[in-house]
Amino acid sequence: MSIEGKVVAVTGASSGIGEATARHLASLGAVVVLGARRADRLDQIVGEITAGGGVATAVRVDVTDPADLRSLVGVAVERFGRLDVLVGNAGITKIGPMAELDLAGWQAMIDVNVNGVLHGIAAALPVFRRQGSGHLVTVVSTSGLKIVPTQAVYAGTKNAVRTFLEALRQESTDGLLRTTSISPGYVRTELVDNAFEDPAVREEVQKSMADLGIEPAAVARAIAFAIDQPEDVEIGDLTIRPTRQG
Ligand code: NDP
Repeated sequence: MSIEGKVVAVTGASSGIGEATARHLASLGAVVVLGARRADRLDQIVGEITAGGGVATAVRVDVTDPADLRSLVGVAVERFGRLDVLVGNAGITKIGPMAELDLAGWQAMIDVNVNGVLHGIAAALPVFRRQGSGHLVTVVSTSGLKIVPTQAVYAGTKNAVRTFLEALRQESTDGLLRTTSISPGYVRTELVDNAFEDPAVREEVQKSMADLGIEPAAVARAIAFAIDQPEDVEIGDLTIRPTRQG
């Protein structure tokens, strides 16, 4: 089995990279289970996928709540019989120098970007073990690869996730689990819309993102490439950024 027929759950599927991934995988014949908090947007995306002949369903998920991840995985298993891939994509960023001491922002990033992924791993691993196979894909960031000022905690959350997946990989040499960390550079999404307190800075970053960023569909294709490999082939790390990104 490559992509066609695989059951794939995607967190953060209501916009940006998660939405593009759900749409792209569905167009390739995957069964997609979309999770995020904005249920109205999920319903609209599911409606469009279904109208186009795809198979999709939505679950309202706040990744900071472990029970919500269990529901997401549970819906996949109950409705479609299994879960082949969990794409841990939901994420937020708050940008600013550490000296601003934005404790609430730091905590929010850790809750969503780190704990949210751990909750997904905790929900999916027992199902993968029972089935005898599974694939964890996480969307991390080039921010974790090239450390820059103002993104310390965001980069730290992404590198924490990279660490979890590498450890899991080494703990899973029985061939049961595949792990993939996707590191996008600048992608044109809503991510930076809530990243800054200062509206002038926000506007400036939104402009440069619009100018430099690649389309979320490019990341979706990278995720599909990792999923599409034969079961004995694991794409561990994949970086995808605008050609002009420094
Ligand atoms: P978006 O803001 O468009 O998407 C973020 C998604 O995460 C939304 O669907 C949002 O849904 C969801 N989300 C946020 N908080 C929660 C939560 N508590 N529970 C469930 N879902 C949540 O941005 P992107 O598509 O860019 O972001 C997707 C991932 O890509 C993130 O992990 C981000 O860090 C990463 N990334 C993005 C880059 C970029 O340049 N855009 C670069 C590198 C990495 P909702 O609000 O409905 O819950």
